[in-house]
Amino acid sequence: MNFDLTEDQKRIRDVVAEFAATEIAPGVAERERKEEFPRAVIDSLAGLGILGMMVPEEYGGSAADALSYILVIEELARVCASVAVIVSVTNSVFCFPVWKYGSDEQKKTILSEVASGKSLGAYALTEPQSGSDAANQKTRAIRDGNGYVLNGSKAWITNAGEAGWYLVMAMTDPAAGTRGITGFLVSAADEGLRIGPPEDKMGLRSSKTASIYLEDLRLSESRRLGAEGDGFRIAMTTLDHSRIGIAAQGVGIARACYDASTEYAKTRETFGRKLAEHEIIAFQIADMKVQIDAARLLTYRAALLSEKPGVRFSKEASMAKVFATEAANTIAARAVQIFGGYGYSREYPVERFYRDARVTTIYEGTSEIQRIVISKNVLAEA
Ligand SMILES: Cc1cc2nc3c(=O)[nH]c(=O)nc-3n(C[C@H](O)[C@H](O)[C@H](O)COP(=O)(O)OP(=O)(O)OC[C@H]3O[C@@H](n4cnc5c(N)ncnc54)[C@H](O)[C@@H]3O)c2cc1C
Repeated sequence: MNFDLTEDQKRIRDVVAEFAATEIAPGVAERERKEEFPRAVIDSLAGLGILGMMVPEEYGGSAADALSYILVIEELARVCASVAVIVSVTNSVFCFPVWKYGSDEQKKTILSEVASGKSLGAYALTEPQSGSDAANQKTRAIRDGNGYVLNGSKAWITNAGEAGWYLVMAMTDPAAGTRGITGFLVSAADEGLRIGPPEDKMGLRSSKTASIYLEDLRLSESRRLGAEGDGFRIAMTTLDHSRIGIAAQGVGIARACYDASTEYAKTRETFGRKLAEHEIIAFQIADMKVQIDAARLLTYRAALLSEKPGVRFSKEASMAKVFATEAANTIAARAVQIFGGYGYSREYPVERFYRDARVTTIYEGTSEIQRIVISKNVLAEA
């Protein structure tokens, strides 16, 4: 497998890195403190074609490849993990499944609107009683004439209240189990959609996460994504793909911690020497570098595999996600330690990186769920 970046991939990465340094970094600490949604940043990213990266141009996207998308998420997360998750959700758990499974009409209208960045997308699978056990859906969609009536609630929905469109999974046939789940495209303007108050989160504080409530929400059949009963398959295929983006978010956060730690270790002195001259600190920095490169290679591999026709990549996506996000947590904890007392202060960014890293092993499938996916695959292969 060739990991060399093409000129186009390098260009996209460099444009976004430059944008992140000049347009995102200056306000990031304040927006996180005030829990302010980065609307202006997101609008500018729409202008750069970053909100529907892999969608064909005819539907408002930029027709980029999966690795370009991964590079972008990494560069955004290195500066602001909140922006990275907002961008990742609209790209990979909204645009991706609508592009793959949507009707022509849905692609021409809904996908074009979201991929071009005129509005954001959100993905609503989790419910209060159903996170890891995603098949245990209680939200109901009941047939009514030519359409459906939806009732239920969804928990922890990223971009809730900011998104124009939601991909909502609902049970159409409870007796059919996972084959009774169906996807629907719900507009923020639909009567019967209510958004709960924002969650008071540990990290990612300038991203918005909230519950959404579906109350006698009526949809025409044209808003169903794919066939009736196909929702769980769509949800799981989507997560295989989007987990690679969360791995890239982990790599980005880890790089931010590494950069901050090396700079600090080369300037801070204790016992008459720079921190970096104490072997135990230098070795920690070496370990960070090894973990970042390993995480990045697993992530690139999964991204490249995801585009090979007919190749299943669930195992590789889970391997990238579990390794990169756990590495991000380890590296963020080490960075706080290297900064000593200052690492515990909001004046220094490593404190934010540490809080932001925490959720990456939880959302889009916890580390335990990734290990279930990996072990099932490797044991079946063995
Ligand atoms: C900031 C944030 C944003 C999110 N955004 C979205 C979103 O946009 N859309 C969406 O649909 N969801 C979203 N989620 C929800 C997220 O995907 C779930 O929180 C996650 O899947 C875990 O589900 P849970 O919280 O119900 O935990 P649970 O499923 O209750 O798990 C609790 C613990 O038990 C472990 N566990 C569960 N089952 C097993 C098992 N079989 N074996 C071993 N261990 C197990 C888990 O790994 C975990 O450690 C978001 C969550 C957060 C925190």
